[in-house]
Amino acid sequence: MDINKEYIKYVCIYRVYSGYKEISQIEDVKETEEDLRNNYSNIGGIDSWLCERLGIDLIILGNLKSNNKILKEKIDKLFKNQFTEERKNGFGSFKDFYEWYLEQGDKCFYCETSSDILEELFDSKKLNSTKFNSTLHIERLNPKEKYSRKNCRLACSLCNNTKSDLISKENYKKYFSKAMESFLNDLKNNKIENKTF
Ligand SMILES: [Zn+2]
Repeated sequence: MDINKEYIKYVCIYRVYSGYKEISQIEDVKETEEDLRNNYSNIGGIDSWLCERLGIDLIILGNLKSNNKILKEKIDKLFKNQFTEERKNGFGSFKDFYEWYLEQGDKCFYCETSSDILEELFDSKKLNSTKFNSTLHIERLNPKEKYSRKNCRLACSLCNNTKSDLISKENYKKYFSKAMESFLNDLKNNKIENKTF
């Protein structure tokens, strides 16, 4: 068992720290929310539950928490900002949604720029906007259909905005994806400036 992976699964995906209700909803947990509360709230709470489940002690749990801090922040942000009611209806659980997100490679479907690079470009103000930021948008390929694994792709704000509802997926890929990729790459590598004022 890969403890680190298990830790991420329970903490980031199943979100066990949200409360006993979330824990009781995990497939192979037999106890009810109330059982869990009665069993654990006096003996260290959710930390204890998690230690028991992973077969670790509080020191190792502490290490896992600090080692995964940045990843957890990233997934928490995804949960908070992107997993809206509408998407919940389409994707199902956050686990399904996150699996889909990972399948997309954490990058724009069109220009293939990663969220890390986009963040770097916006944070350093190489890309400076009052309207757009580094968050990858969840785009529906067919806007008339609901959010689902099949119908959704990640798109950076630049591609999403350029493409809008004017250019088809195929034409955007053919004519603009490579251009956007090379623009963002050059900007990242300080080959060009991008003063918009
Ligand atoms: Zn893009």
